[in-house]
Amino acid sequence: MGVDRITGEAQFITAKISAHYVDNARNLPWRVPPKISASGMLPDPYHIWLSEVMLQQTTVAAVIAYFQKFTKRWPTIADLAAADEADVLAAWAGLGYYARARNLHKCALHVADERNGVFPAQEAELLKLPGVGAYTAAAVAAIAFGKRAVVVDANIERLVARLFAIDTPLPKGKGDIRIGMDALTPEQGAGDFAQACMDIGASICTAKAPKCDICPVQVHCAAYANADQERYPVKPAKKAKPTRSGRFFWIEQDEKLLLITRPAKGMLGSMRALPDDNWAAGTDGHGQPPLDGDWQLHENVVQHSFTHFSLEVDLAVYQSDKIAINKGDNKKIELGQVLDDVIWWPIDDIEDAGLPTLFAKAVRWAVKQKLKESL
Ligand code: SF4
Repeated sequence: MGVDRITGEAQFITAKISAHYVDNARNLPWRVPPKISASGMLPDPYHIWLSEVMLQQTTVAAVIAYFQKFTKRWPTIADLAAADEADVLAAWAGLGYYARARNLHKCALHVADERNGVFPAQEAELLKLPGVGAYTAAAVAAIAFGKRAVVVDANIERLVARLFAIDTPLPKGKGDIRIGMDALTPEQGAGDFAQACMDIGASICTAKAPKCDICPVQVHCAAYANADQERYPVKPAKKAKPTRSGRFFWIEQDEKLLLITRPAKGMLGSMRALPDDNWAAGTDGHGQPPLDGDWQLHENVVQHSFTHFSLEVDLAVYQSDKIAINKGDNKKIELGQVLDDVIWWPIDDIEDAGLPTLFAKAVRWAVKQKLKESL
């Protein structure tokens, strides 16, 4: 690990990265461009917080449309706080990691109710907000409030690990990476500097085939000097992911599909979804349908990868005009768990239901196969 060597060059690296940002910053809807931020203008903390929450484990390209949708529908944090959680979750559908959306709403409520709709500027205060972790607190303090804070996201982690040739495997190596970023972070303009590093990580110091020929800090880069750029950051040995199986139930009547709202606690909590066989309880699903009927089983129609396991999903289909639980909405049915808010949703409008990606994949598969016509 070469932090000591590099910190001696820190001011040069910082100056080159900052200068590169002025003409090469990505144009992102939550940002203030560097030529304007140089005059002291800072972005809206609500926009920075929202974008940073969305960007966790999600690409910039995917986040832009969601950011625009959210800020159009809920222009201020007070508007977001006043929204129903169900609407926020439905608008989040497709971004994944739904705990983020629930925490987003909780945090909006907290800032609106307890802090008069104003985000705190200090990193330590930001850390007290619901769902705000070390990374988001540092990013909001630096970018939205101009505070000196050490921001380390995945792009910065890669850039700094390579500059310093930090060879301690993650997650232990994060400590040294933070030391390196701390050495580079300037007293003034820490927010723009963090964004400059993010941009270089995203577009030049890429995970595969980094574009070292156009990198502004190539002459300082230890990994480049050793010609082993892709070795960094050093990843821990991969554990094999277990594969679990589950079953979703397509229950159709009068061109409508039965949807439930998942229990508030647990995986994909409070999201609208197809009924399932409780696969999320931590084992394979039990496979039992919620109703007696003439079910048609379609095996392994969806494969989905979660952080700690992969899921293979069967879809069981039942269509009838005599389904016993169809008399109105908001009934309860028993599926190994009590599920609330049963609703019949028009199949033609199913894309508006705000289903999480996993369920949306199964529904799209079914629609594509024209299951309902073939039954
Ligand atoms: Fe990354 Fe290459 Fe620049 Fe080193 S020289 S920081 S590996 S892009």
